[in-house]
Order: sequence, then structure tokens, then C-alpha cells
Amino acid sequence: MIGMSTTRTVLSFHWFIFGFDGRIGSWANCVSISPVTYFLYLDSMATLEIQTGDAPILRETAVPIPEIDADLLQLIADMFETMYAVQGIGLAAPQIGVSKRLIIIDIEEHHPEYPRIALINPVITMAVGEELGEEGCLSLPGIRGMVQRSATVKVEGLLPNGDKIEFDASGLMARVLQHERDHLDGVLFTDLLIPGDQQLLEPPPEMATEI
Ligand SMILES: [Zn+2]
Repeated sequence: MIGMSTTRTVLSFHWFIFGFDGRIGSWANCVSISPVTYFLYLDSMATLEIQTGDAPILRETAVPIPEIDADLLQLIADMFETMYAVQGIGLAAPQIGVSKRLIIIDIEEHHPEYPRIALINPVITMAVGEELGEEGCLSLPGIRGMVQRSATVKVEGLLPNGDKIEFDASGLMARVLQHERDHLDGVLFTDLLIPGDQQLLEPPPEMATEI
């Protein structure tokens, strides 16, 4: 059941969901990604209600998406709308009440090498190294903490146009991918904190890093 507190906004312009195709370089070199090979446009989008705190769906294992249809594309558009409304950089479907294996990420403003993306049924197929970094979560407002993640990951999944994609990511993109991927298995970043390391901040100092 979608947690749609739907204020459906009809926009006066066509809104595009961009994807990208990935050209995988060597494992040592970060992937080179060329932007925008497909899109869809929708005339309306909705801002969805973000599930927070101890909402049960945040602890469920999300189910694989068997096919890409119009409802899924609408969901993706609505997720982007929702994420942008709260200045997030990543969002997983369970966070808006849909227990499906779908994540979206947009860190393009500061990391143009990673165009924004919606990934269906994402799988992390390889993880290398370790990196400590601060995280927050749109579903856990006011909480931040340091989380150890793999420094570089290889990810595969489907784009909204049905194309398979596989690419390498490092730095912030690797972190957000792992954070969002965890949401699909009911794992929250607070599960990964060193005991006693959780920081309660009021308000979060940098909303742009909420994922
Ligand atoms: Zn999160």
C-alpha cells in the first residue's frame, strides 16, 4: 500500500527522468558514464509520505520487481519529486511505503560523474576497501552517525527503460548505493553504528546529505 498523502501536482512542463548507460572501465578505474540514453515524461507527480522511525515497512525485505510498467514509472517520478522536496540525495521505495526493490539517487550537482539514476532490483556484486563516513537518513530525522562502508562497489540492476546496467562507484556514490540497498533488506544505517556513536542533532546541519 503506497503511503500516498497525495497532493498531486500538475506541472506545466514535462518532467524527465533521466537514466544513463554505463561503460565499465577496468576495475581500477572508476566507470565512465555517459548521460541520458532514455527518458520518460509525466505530466503529473505526487509527493509521497516518507516512512519514519519504527514504521514496520522499514524493517521488511522488499520484493523484486518482475516487470516495468506505467505504475512503476509513475512511482519513480513520484519518488524523485518526494526526494527533491526534502533535499535528499537518495531514496529507497520502502521509505515511501512501497516494499519493492527500487532505489533512486541524485548526487549529480556535486558529482557530475554520476548522473542521477533510478535502479530497479539493484545488486551489489563486488565491494572493495573500507571507508568511514557520516550518514543521515530521511526516515530517521535528526540522527546522524559515522558508518563504515565499502569504499568501492560494483552494482548492477535495471534502468527504467528496461536496459541492464552495471557500473563501479566510489566515494559518496558508493556510500549512497550501499545505504539505499540496505533499505531493501530492512537495514537502517543506525544498525551499523559503533555503539555509543549515534549523534542526535537538532536540526540536522546538512540536509543535503540525508539519504
Ligand atoms: Zn535512508
